[in-house]
Amino acid sequence: MSGDLLVVGSVAIDAVETPFGREDEALGGSALYFTAAASLFAPVRLVAVVGEDFPTERVAFLAERGADLSGLVRAEGRTFRWKGRYGFDLNEAHTLETHLNVFEGFSPELAPAHRACPYVFLANIDPDLQQRVLDQVEDPRFVALDTMNFWIEGKRRSLLDAIARVDMVVLNEAEARMLAEEPNLVRAAQKILSWGPNGVVVKRGEYGAMYFADGHVFAAPAFPLEEVFDPTGAGDTFAGGMMGYLASTGNLEPDNIRRAIVFGSAMASFNVEDFSFRRLERLTYDEVASRYRQFKTLTEFEAEVG
Ligand code: AMP
Repeated sequence: MSGDLLVVGSVAIDAVETPFGREDEALGGSALYFTAAASLFAPVRLVAVVGEDFPTERVAFLAERGADLSGLVRAEGRTFRWKGRYGFDLNEAHTLETHLNVFEGFSPELAPAHRACPYVFLANIDPDLQQRVLDQVEDPRFVALDTMNFWIEGKRRSLLDAIARVDMVVLNEAEARMLAEEPNLVRAAQKILSWGPNGVVVKRGEYGAMYFADGHVFAAPAFPLEEVFDPTGAGDTFAGGMMGYLASTGNLEPDNIRRAIVFGSAMASFNVEDFSFRRLERLTYDEVASRYRQFKTLTEFEAEVG
C-alpha cells in the first residue's frame, strides 16, 4: 500500500564551511533536505517551525514539487540555526553552534491529513518532539527515525523511548557507536535492534550504507564522485530517497528495502555535488533513476569463483 509520507524535523538557516567554500545564510535542516529528496518520489507533508527571519520564498520549489507545506508554521523569534565545519574528511561534521531558537517552544499540532499518513519519518530533531508526533499519528504502516550526537548526549532517555516505538532507525556510523556504547558496528546495530525496531540503517558517508535486520545484512557503496563540495544534508537526502521510494512502492519486503537504500544513496550523491539545495533544486527523477542503474553496474560481479 503506497501512500503519503509525513516528516517532522528541523528547518534551518545554516552557516557551513568546507575546504571548498563557505555559505553563511544557507537553507538547511533535516526535514527540509528530506522533503526535497522524498518529494521526487511520493507526496510529502512537512511539519516544522520557522521564525520571522525565514525566507519562505526560498522553499517555493518544494511546493512546486507537490510537497504539502501547510504544517510549516511561523512563530515569533528566530529560525533554528546550525553552524558547522567540514575538514578534508568530509564524513565528519564539526558542529560549531546550535541555536534551537523557535524549536524551544514548539509543540507540533498535526492536522487530520498529517495524522493519517501511513509513512512517517522522524528526522533529526528533539526526541521529545519526535514522540509528540508519534502520539498523534493514527496507526502508521512504517515509521523511521534519525538522530545525531547532540540528542544522544543531551536527551538520551527520551531518544531511547522514541526508538522503542519505531520500525527503523537511520543514523550515521559514529552516532550508532555512541548510541549503542559499542565500538563494533555489527554489535552496535544488534543492540539497537534489541530495543525494538525491525531494521537499522547505518550511513557511512563516502563508504556507503549498511542495513541490519533480523538475520539480514545488506551493504551498499556510495557513488564514487570526483567532486564533493558540501556534505550537509547527505544523511537526510539519503533518508528522503529511501523513504520516498518505500512510500511510493508500498513494499516493505527486504528486497525492496535494498532498492530503497540504493535510491537513498543515489539521492545523497547528488546533494553533495553543490552547496545547500543548489543541486537538489534542479534534480529530476530521471537523473536519480539513471544513477540508481549505475549502482548496479558498480557492484556487479560473478559469484562463480573457479
Ligand atoms: P545531515 O544530513 O546530517 O548532514 O544534516 C544536516 C542538517 O541537520 C543541517 O542542515 C542542520 O541544520 C541540521 N541540524 C544540525 N544539528 C541539528 C540538531 N541538533 N537538530 C536538528 N537538526 C540539526
